[in-house]
Amino acid sequence: MQPSPKPSSELASRRMRNTRSRDTPPELAIRRLLHARGLRYRVDARPLKGLNRKADLVFGPAKLVVFVDGCFWHACPEHGSAPKANAQWWAEKLRTNVEPDRDTDAKLASAGRTVLRIWEHVPSATAAELVATAVAERRAILAGRPGVGPSSR
Ligand SMILES: [Zn+2]
Repeated sequence: MQPSPKPSSELASRRMRNTRSRDTPPELAIRRLLHARGLRYRVDARPLKGLNRKADLVFGPAKLVVFVDGCFWHACPEHGSAPKANAQWWAEKLRTNVEPDRDTDAKLASAGRTVLRIWEHVPSATAAELVATAVAERRAILAGRPGVGPSSR
C-alpha cells in the first residue's frame, strides 16, 4: 500500500480539516453579537465582483470587508507557529496561505473597500466592537461626515 501524503500528526490533520470551513465558533460568536446590535451583513460572501475570494462578513453599503483569520493558517504572530514535523512543508504551505491574503487586501483597498482582519484569538466581544466601530466610521465617511464616530479627533 502507498502511504498517503497527509500531515504527520493528528493535530495537523485536524487543523487542515478546520481551515476551509465557514461558521467557525469565533465567527458565529462575532456574528451573534453584531446581529444583536442590529447590524446586517452578508456571510461568506464575495466582496468584489471578479475577485475569487470570499470574506467572512461583507457590509455592502459601508464598503467594509471583514475576515476572521485563523491563527494557524494565517500565521498569527502569537499562535501561528508551524508544526515541528515536516517543518519545511508546513512553512511553504503557510506562506502560500498568507500571500493571497495580502493580495486580496490590496485589491479590495484599490476598489475602495476597507478591510478589517481579526485574529480568531481576539475575544468575540472585542472583535464585535472593532467591527461595529469600523462600520460606524465607514458609514460616516461615506455620508461625508468623517468626524462622526468613536475615532473622531
Ligand atoms: Zn492567534
